[in-house]
Amino acid sequence: MSFQNNLFEKIRKTGAIPLDEYMGLCNAHYYANENPFGQSGDFITAPEISQIFGEMIAVWLVDTLGHVGSSEKIMILECGSGRGTMMFDILKTIRNFKSFQVDVKAVILENSQGLISVQKETLKDFDIEWIKDIHSPILKNFEGTIFIIGNEFLDALPIKQFVFKHQKWFERYIAENENGYLSFVKYPTEYMPPLSDPEEGDIYEFSPAIEQFLKNATSIFDSYRQGGMLWIDYGYDKDAFVDTFQAVRSHQYADPLKTPGANDLTAHVKFSKIKDICSEAGLHTYNIITQRQFLQSCGIDLRANQLMKQKDAVVSKEIEQALFRLTDPTQMGTLFKCFAATTSKVQPAGFV
Ligand code: SAH
Repeated sequence: MSFQNNLFEKIRKTGAIPLDEYMGLCNAHYYANENPFGQSGDFITAPEISQIFGEMIAVWLVDTLGHVGSSEKIMILECGSGRGTMMFDILKTIRNFKSFQVDVKAVILENSQGLISVQKETLKDFDIEWIKDIHSPILKNFEGTIFIIGNEFLDALPIKQFVFKHQKWFERYIAENENGYLSFVKYPTEYMPPLSDPEEGDIYEFSPAIEQFLKNATSIFDSYRQGGMLWIDYGYDKDAFVDTFQAVRSHQYADPLKTPGANDLTAHVKFSKIKDICSEAGLHTYNIITQRQFLQSCGIDLRANQLMKQKDAVVSKEIEQALFRLTDPTQMGTLFKCFAATTSKVQPAGFV
């Protein structure tokens, strides 16, 4: 039976499923079966735009390692690696730095078998371990400094939504309507969003999946382990009534309830919540900054200029365009945000 038929059957059986269950099922199918990246795919991520993105993450790791204290053993855990391009650019870059000429263990947390195969090909010259779960003993048993990083990983994790109607909050579910299409329905809920003064029709969203994931991830940093985290994604800083649930297919916005499992379903990441969870876990947190600020602090302009000088006019123009796409406020520069947390109070590059 096809994924869509299975999904409809499940929905008919129970009447309706909560939005986060719908998003989780659709994305698991989507990432397992589609090749979402690149011109011919559905979207292009920063590491796929240019190698300089991964290089800047490497610079950040080198700088932060210098602050948290060098180590004989270092682990870099990337969550949701896509085609493996960012890990490739990071590993290629860090080996030029003395502090990383130690025992570096690269680990990828990935749940798409199809993408693991692509990552294995991209990273065939490196020694990588793949894990499916943040509870993996590979993490728990590691003795050394750990960095956990992710680009556009958190936005793929499912969210719940609540809608304010007639002075009451309802949770949004997905059901089949009389025309045989999926549509939103709402059910009464006990849940009360932590924001006051909602207006009729306001939507509040949060991701139990992100919260659980981060609680598990931060628990890896017990009192013996140094390290930090870096998360890059589109998102917002302050909690608010917003509806950011969206679908993208072939570089265009699509209806998230049509062709389930064939679109990339995402939501903007609520960075203020991520910061709270990390602080509660005892990590030092820093202000949320834009991708533009982050990349510029890590020296992206200098690196782009250096590369442009080495290349012919055509490639040089491509690098200039990539720099524009990654940093300009009309492109990814300010929509994308960066958040860092570290085990000791340092000033990681770009963060205040
Ligand atoms: N970081 C990559 C890919 C971003 S797309 C880039 O910037 O190009 C999201 C990635 O997260 C995909 O690799 C997807 O398979 C993975 N992913 C989504 N949900 C996941 C989950 N619950 N557990 C592990 N990986 C997940």
